[in-house]
Amino acid sequence: MLELNGIDKSFGGVHAVRNVSLTLAAGEVRGLIGPNGAGKSTLVNLISGLLVPTAGTITLEGQPITRQSAHERARKGIARTFQNLRVFPSLSVEQNIDVARYAGRGAPLPEAAIDEFGLRRKLTQRANALSYGDQRRLEIVRGLALRPKVLMLDEPAAGMNEEETEALGRALTWVQREAECALFVIDHDLKFIMNLCERITVLDMGAIIAEGTPEEVTKNPKVVTAYLGE
Ligand code: ADP
Ligand code: MG
Repeated sequence: MLELNGIDKSFGGVHAVRNVSLTLAAGEVRGLIGPNGAGKSTLVNLISGLLVPTAGTITLEGQPITRQSAHERARKGIARTFQNLRVFPSLSVEQNIDVARYAGRGAPLPEAAIDEFGLRRKLTQRANALSYGDQRRLEIVRGLALRPKVLMLDEPAAGMNEEETEALGRALTWVQREAECALFVIDHDLKFIMNLCERITVLDMGAIIAEGTPEEVTKNPKVVTAYLGE
């Protein structure tokens, strides 16, 4: 469904993403892990169109999107959340969701998504009046309201306690079952990632050093050295 081929990105002297090739199947739940500065957020920015790669190509269902704008990609089915929250602060929860409905592929958001992420009783509240966790959950529901083919989540469990993280995992499992979109999930919480994801890609210093099931990657000596051992 989504294919990256030889993607490279440099910022001046910083080689943030190095020759990354990966394929995401329709409906797949993929984890992306790696130390701080590994290039995870940059990769999401490249896929969503906030950045243009220095080299390489990105295709969505066989169509090249490497040079399309972020809003064109959003309309074609690529949604994401940000490591630092970016809800529309002065709009209500419902308005935040509606903006995405209009920007997206036109299909209605399953109403149950609002319940799964605990926002039903908060629809009329202004986004900036929500708790931090609710703002994070709103960002996810807003992404889902685009009815994407892939939803990329940049550290969705950051700042959440154990209970909230478990609830988030259950809600994302619901997304996997019901929303017919692939998930590409970055997080530092390995338990969260391993419970949720069928496959995990490991990035270190901009390059993929491992890919496989949670069991495979955690046993990989390169991963232990680069990530788990730190
Ligand atoms: P991660 O999300 O894995 O922690 P990032 O993708 O944020 O890593 O960063 C990868 C590298 O690219 C880091 O060295 C970071 O400082 C650098 N970087 C990221 N964005 C920019 C930018 N806009 N300009 C310059 N350097 C950047
Ligand atoms: Mg990051």
